[in-house]
Amino acid sequence: MFSCCARSLVRCRVFYRTFANQGVIGDGTYPQFVKIVEVGPRDGLQNEPVKVPTNVKVELINRLVAAGLCTVEATSFVSPKWVPQLADGAEVLRSIDRKPGIRYPVLVPNLKGLNAAINAGAEEIAVFGAASESFSLKNINCSIDESLLRFSDVIKEALSHGIRVRGYVSCVLGCPYEGKINPHKVAKVASAMIDMGCYEISLGDTIGVGTPGEMDTMLTEVTRLIPVSNLAVHCHNTYGQALANILMALQHGVSVVDSSVAGLGGCPYAKGASGNVATEDVVYMLHGMGIETGVDLEKLIEVGNYISTFLNRPTASKVACALSKL
Ligand SMILES: [Zn+2]
Repeated sequence: MFSCCARSLVRCRVFYRTFANQGVIGDGTYPQFVKIVEVGPRDGLQNEPVKVPTNVKVELINRLVAAGLCTVEATSFVSPKWVPQLADGAEVLRSIDRKPGIRYPVLVPNLKGLNAAINAGAEEIAVFGAASESFSLKNINCSIDESLLRFSDVIKEALSHGIRVRGYVSCVLGCPYEGKINPHKVAKVASAMIDMGCYEISLGDTIGVGTPGEMDTMLTEVTRLIPVSNLAVHCHNTYGQALANILMALQHGVSVVDSSVAGLGGCPYAKGASGNVATEDVVYMLHGMGIETGVDLEKLIEVGNYISTFLNRPTASKVACALSKL
């Protein structure tokens, strides 16, 4: 049975598929293709309280790739003391069914983590910095400057092994300890990480407090120092602003978006932060605008159901919820 609301959802989809054209909608120009970086198996699961066995993580990653995602952040090589959920990172990386052309980046905090990642066959890593001094101290136990120094060794070593490096800057639109963050500070940290050799910087609204106006101001500042082709956005949906913020980023020309299947995750150091924006919701919005992603939405929703069922929690994807009622 179709509910009234579900029927109008389907009509909506047909409408957008019919009328969305070559990247220009209303007054905005949008990328024709957006690369989605799926962060559920790492950023998502690390904040889920239910212990997930290695075989379920491996299955989740393989299914995400089968749904069309070309970049899936697989795990992290952070100390198991800090992130017990991902203590099996090496085993996960060795067990996934690696497909050619697919990237499986892993999060690495230091040289020790990098060596472990290299031994497990990592070909891409991500390093993690913050635009907020207090968040940096609480999250990675050092000041921003110290963290940049630490990264420069890790990045140098990774590059010398032919490993690509992606950089995260967290708290770009707000910090749980400092509140508002100066966009110039975000730009400086991001640009320092690019100078060290990161090929891309993912700008994270880690606690999901930002609004599109703030995203606009921040990106205006950051793109003064960094080409937009080197930028990604990573939005959490705590205040329900994630899709609006992503839309604003697309208008700036950003064409890489991080998201998490079923909206998995949160942030242990940022109280009250809900999960990343759900990949299903991002894909639905983009496809509705005529923007390609290479992702099969139906298959993706099945993957979201798989992991949500395992975690015994409802999906945080509005789209998955709505379509499951059709
Ligand atoms: Zn996140």
